[in-house]
Amino acid sequence: MQNIVLFGPPGAGKGTQSQKLIEQYGYIHLSTGDLLRSQIALGTQLGQKAKELMDAGILVPDEVVIGMIASELTANPGAKGFIFDGFPRTVPQATALDALLADHSTSVKGMIALEVAHDVLVARLLNRGLTSGRPDDVNEVLIAKRVDEYNSKTKPVADYYKAQHKYTGIFGEGEVDDIFQQICRVIDGFGR
Ligand code: ADP
Repeated sequence: MQNIVLFGPPGAGKGTQSQKLIEQYGYIHLSTGDLLRSQIALGTQLGQKAKELMDAGILVPDEVVIGMIASELTANPGAKGFIFDGFPRTVPQATALDALLADHSTSVKGMIALEVAHDVLVARLLNRGLTSGRPDDVNEVLIAKRVDEYNSKTKPVADYYKAQHKYTGIFGEGEVDDIFQQICRVIDGFGR
């Protein structure tokens, strides 16, 4: 099983590249942001609690997202692989993912990180906010909060995978298709 962690700050292009990757490789896309937004749409208790935090640009508690990922892994036993998008976002989430995958006799093949400059991220998110309807994309204060959360809690996750020699960084500011080709080369290099 080929399990890839697609990493990067908010607005780096993880969702866009994930869509292309699932078409190319037939892996299952697991985005904790999407999973949380579907809980909000369903109006569940979990969704209601998560919405308050998400709308404020704050990470939801680790146990919430870890629980969601655990259910998805169990629900997809025959998967060829998973693309993790927006997860793990803290070091405890990364250690939990290793344990969950070990329970399924598999592991993370590698982390692919999209590297994008701060001002480009802010511009992309504000632009997305014009059409996405996402409350966390609409103003610079909230976007700054999300970037703060990323810098303090999420960046250390890259070091976690670097220490395991599983990290590859890709410059994420060019054409979508060029970036996609670079990601594919990295994944193809992982072997089976
Ligand atoms: P983006 O990468 O553009 O910020 P996401 O859809 O990945 O968008 O995340 C939106 C929000 O959902 C985050 O700001 C956070 O509140 C919550 N969230 C998503 N994934 C996680 C996670 N793994 N851990 C904690 N909170 C998360």
